[in-house]
Amino acid sequence: MRIAIAGGGLGGLTLARVLHRHGIEAVVYEREPSRSARSQGGTLDLHPESGQRALAEAGLTGGFRSRARPEGEEHRIVDPAGRTLVHHTPQPGSFAGRPEIDRSALRDLLLDSLPGDAVAWRHRLVAATPRPGGGWELTFDGGHTSDCDVLVGADGARSVVRSLLTDAATSYVATFAELTISDVDRRHPDVAELVGPGNLWCVGVNQILAAQRIGDGSVRVGISLRAEDRPLDTFRSKGALLDLFGGWDRSLTALIEAGDDTVTPRRIEAMPVGARWSGRPGITLIGDAAHLMPPVGEGANQAMLDAAELGRALAADAADPDAAIRAYEEAMFARIHPIADMSARAQAMMLSPTAAADVTRFFSARP
Ligand SMILES: Cc1cc2nc3c(=O)[nH]c(=O)nc-3n(C[C@H](O)[C@H](O)[C@H](O)COP(=O)(O)OP(=O)(O)OC[C@H]3O[C@@H](n4cnc5c(N)ncnc54)[C@H](O)[C@@H]3O)c2cc1C
Repeated sequence: MRIAIAGGGLGGLTLARVLHRHGIEAVVYEREPSRSARSQGGTLDLHPESGQRALAEAGLTGGFRSRARPEGEEHRIVDPAGRTLVHHTPQPGSFAGRPEIDRSALRDLLLDSLPGDAVAWRHRLVAATPRPGGGWELTFDGGHTSDCDVLVGADGARSVVRSLLTDAATSYVATFAELTISDVDRRHPDVAELVGPGNLWCVGVNQILAAQRIGDGSVRVGISLRAEDRPLDTFRSKGALLDLFGGWDRSLTALIEAGDDTVTPRRIEAMPVGARWSGRPGITLIGDAAHLMPPVGEGANQAMLDAAELGRALAADAADPDAAIRAYEEAMFARIHPIADMSARAQAMMLSPTAAADVTRFFSARP
């Protein structure tokens, strides 16, 4: 069984690792030229029942614990006047909750666990066509081709593989603009103290200003707005972002002022809740390719769990990969639909006129 995985993000790499542990070889085709070609972004909290479970399946719990930052689980929610609404401090050194890990550290952990030739870099999949005898012919940017018996689309939000299974379209659900404050302890100690070792969320009317401590000594600042509020192009400078937060406490707008100059705005998209497809031989999807959701803390966790469950199913039924794929897909749809529904509702709640009260109630109720 020759397995091709399109996309070397957290889902694709976790799948390759789980298969490799079961003695099944898989090639990951990744469009980026190398592991360091692009910054991987901020940090993730890995949930015990999904992201951490997948890492256990991958035999990487020890590696995760040595790279994670359990203190990063600390979070504080404040209102636009800077008043604290919720402050959660984890038990020092405890891995019982949802410890944070930098995305780059997690991706390196997965890459280092694979044989050197498991990832074919600079391979952007542009098309996959069924072969007459079964399996798929893959065409990459530049014209070179390859083939496989089973194709797994782990190619993220704008998946190319998705269209071979479903015509479900994504919709624009929010705007997100990001800034980095590098070397924060030395250059902006007040900001460092405000953010603390974990996450800070400043919740206003229809908008959120958030900040997150990263293990490399920087802070990432993210601004979330409703999709319908303003065109994406209006968020390309710090001045334009500051205009959105007139009247907010200056200790909070300092998060924007302290940012290094580049502002990266992007569209946040989601697939319809309940999206599914009828199975097709030799092909399936995991992660954002399968179920792109608003970013409220589940996407990477579920992508990794998809990978662990698909890898286990393929290993258990290597003689009949289509039966393994069917079993994986049914279980995945049943697991994901309530999570996608919750994510859509959480996203709407966080960007609403009553967000401060709703978010406070939500976090106060959480154990
Ligand atoms: C602002 C923001 C904050 C988030 N915060 C969290 C969080 O706190 N917790 C959480 O669990 N999730 C979070 N998420 C969601 C999470 O990032 C995604 O759900 C997760 O990365 C999905 O993993 P994936 O492997 O499916 O896709 P990706 O991580 O997107 O990986 C896809 C890979 O495929 C490659 N690729 C794409 N197209 C092709 C192609 N045609 N050929 C070859 N390679 C290709 C890409 O280069 C990439 O490496 C957040 C998302 C956003 C946008």
